[in-house]
Amino acid sequence: MTEQNQSECIFCQIVAKKIPCFKVYEDERTLAFSDINPLADGHTLVISKNHAVNLLEITPGDLAAVHQTSQKVAHAIMKSLKPAGIAVLQLNGAGANQVVMHYHVHLIPRNRPNDGLTVLEWEAKPGNMKAVERHYKKIVEAI
Ligand code: AMP
Ligand code: ZN
Repeated sequence: MTEQNQSECIFCQIVAKKIPCFKVYEDERTLAFSDINPLADGHTLVISKNHAVNLLEITPGDLAAVHQTSQKVAHAIMKSLKPAGIAVLQLNGAGANQVVMHYHVHLIPRNRPNDGLTVLEWEAKPGNMKAVERHYKKIVEAI
C-alpha cells in the first residue's frame, strides 16, 4: 500500500476509536499502543493524533510531541519488562518499507544477543571515504 487517504488510514481510525487498540498512553497530541504483530514482547507504536504521512510531512510540534511520548513509554517499558535495551525504528516511504502511511515510531524491546532481531544488527564495514564525502557534500548543499 503506497497511498492512503486520511479516512482510510488505519491509525486515524484508531485515534477516532473506530477500531480498538491496546492503549498504552494518550495525551492531547499523541497516542501509544501495542503493535499487533510484535517483533518482540512489548513492541509499542507511538503516533501523532494528527495525520501526517512521515518525517517529511509531520509538523515540528507533533514531531516533538511523538518523541517526548516515546521517551515516556520507553521508561515504562524498561521499568515493567526490563529488556536489555530498546530499539527505536521509524520508516519513511514505501521504498523504506513503511506500510502504514501515518507517522509512527516503533519502540522495540531488545535482549541481545539471542533475541532473533538480526535485521536490527549490522557489521560495521569501513566505507569508501571518497563516496562518504561525495554524499555528505550533496546533503550539505541541500540544507
Ligand atoms: P511500518 O512498516 O513502520 O509502517 O509498520 C506498521 C506497523 O503497524 C506494523 O508493525 C504493524 O504490525 C502495525 N499495525 C498495523 N495495523 C495495526 C493495528 N491495527 N494495531 C496495531 N498495530 C498495527
Ligand atoms: Zn492517519
